[in-house]
Amino acid sequence: MSATLIDGKARAERLRADVATAVAALKAAHGVQPGLAAVLVGDDPASHVYVANKVRQTAEAGMQSFEHRLPADTSEADLLALVEKLNADETVDGILVQMPLPKHIDSDRIVMAIDPAKDVDGLHPQNAGLIVLGRPGLVPCTPQGCVILAEEAMGDLSGVDALVIGRSILVGKPVALLLQNKNATVTMAHSRTRDLAGLCRKADLVVAAVGRPKMVRGDWLKPGACVIDVGINRVPAPEKGEGKTRLVGDVDFAEAVEVAGSITPVPGGVGPMTIACLLANTAKAAALRRGLPVPAGV
Ligand code: NDP
Repeated sequence: MSATLIDGKARAERLRADVATAVAALKAAHGVQPGLAAVLVGDDPASHVYVANKVRQTAEAGMQSFEHRLPADTSEADLLALVEKLNADETVDGILVQMPLPKHIDSDRIVMAIDPAKDVDGLHPQNAGLIVLGRPGLVPCTPQGCVILAEEAMGDLSGVDALVIGRSILVGKPVALLLQNKNATVTMAHSRTRDLAGLCRKADLVVAAVGRPKMVRGDWLKPGACVIDVGINRVPAPEKGEGKTRLVGDVDFAEAVEVAGSITPVPGGVGPMTIACLLANTAKAAALRRGLPVPAGV
């Protein structure tokens, strides 16, 4: 058996098209052009690539894009002052502070300073609390992307036995809550879990968000299960040449594809959904902040 590939790239493209339609509708009906401010501190090359992609895709969706690049030695006070300025700026609907921040800055303090109505990363405790309550709010982007892809593959998630491996604030925890809000029966696993393979074999849906290359083996999976692989791990790839690397997920794809019913590839699965969900959150925030109905598709 060979699993169906869940094409995150194609799904993200559809979501971005829906966001562009929603943005056009907000403009036409209310004269509102949503705006996303991206803040980048320091010169981490990967973060520069992420932010450049976000800025480009924001503009492509018809939104305003504001970029703030600050030097690595920016003080916490100066970053807080910028966040306050963006909170007060009516043209800014979403504020994204690219993580990780330099070590001398307390990232929790920065996240707490962002107006929850503009917290398009969904990391502020107020938005985290709304997920716990099962109420609408701004949902973290990667977890939202996981749920959209699981629904793409499985349809209604009601009653599905789901296993989420990983309990980070960024991914595992919100994924588990979102799946529960979709009426899945959710088990959360982590580094102290006993018999992870046994739990995995019972699950109709496995979401792996661990950060350990190829940890989930093919024989851990229930035949026909849906597998959402969040992991992004860079490993040596001597077959591509000396010193070369490639990306692999937390799931052993070659093994899993023979057992699963559907599976996300790495890259090209969950990854592309993250920015698309960020754009959707910005359009949503623009509507919610003004008391307007959230346009369809976001
Ligand atoms: P964290 O390191 O914050 O969390 C990892 C989680 O995995 C922890 O809860 C940890 O358990 C658990 N864990 C570690 N080892 C094991 C083990 N042997 N068995 C079971 N559970 C284990 O990582 P993140 O959640 O931030 O990210 C996870 C992965 O997702 C990474 O590869 C990351 O690169 C990727 N990622 C991808 C994104 C995207 O596609 N856009 C976005 C964000 C992340 P414990 O709590 O007990 O320590």
